[in-house]
Amino acid sequence: MRLKCIRLAGFKSFVDPTTVPFTKNMTCVVGPNGCGKSNIIDAVRWVMGESSAKHLRGESMTDVIFNGSTARKPVGQASIELVFDNSDGTLKGQYGQYAEIALKRQVTREGQSSYYLNGTKCRRKDITEIFLGTGLGSRSYAIIEQGMISRLIEAKPEELRNTIEEAAGISKYKERRRETENR
Ligand code: ATP
Ligand code: MG
Repeated sequence: MRLKCIRLAGFKSFVDPTTVPFTKNMTCVVGPNGCGKSNIIDAVRWVMGESSAKHLRGESMTDVIFNGSTARKPVGQASIELVFDNSDGTLKGQYGQYAEIALKRQVTREGQSSYYLNGTKCRRKDITEIFLGTGLGSRSYAIIEQGMISRLIEAKPEELRNTIEEAAGISKYKERRRETENR
């Protein structure tokens, strides 16, 4: 599985529709301070269902919407689409049969969030479920952010266990058991 490209529009500093392609050999994104490198990572987390504004370096969830600059007016909504190459079948479930999986999230100033899977409206849960056990996901270890290593070192045993369970691929079964028990 590989992230092929990200399409951003109205998200943080990416006000105009922008496509960031990730070629097979891509190893890093470079640029001057404040040019939007970390915003790209925030975009990935956001689509995967990140629901904490703080984790996206903002105060409220609508802070991800472009809020204007000296030259441009603020816009009314933000949208991000992540396109994954799934020709190796890593992503399972209902959409596992597709060689390409596109996940999209949109939010309006009113705070209305919508999610789409290959163009069809879905729930946040449908997106988080696809990634359970893959090591990806909004809080997964695939994205190592500043301070994460020290947080793991200082983590309480239960917190550390969540990370180990995700790495071992059993978190999806635990999630299903929890759902069944709550029914
Ligand atoms: P560094 O090298 O310092 O880590 P960076 O390339 O990671 O920089 P980012 O943190 O991704 O930079 O981008 C910060 C820029 O995004 C700032 O200029 C900030 O004003 C802009 N920005 C963040 N949120 C918004 C928003 N909602 N609307 C407009 N601009 C925004
Ligand atoms: Mg940065």
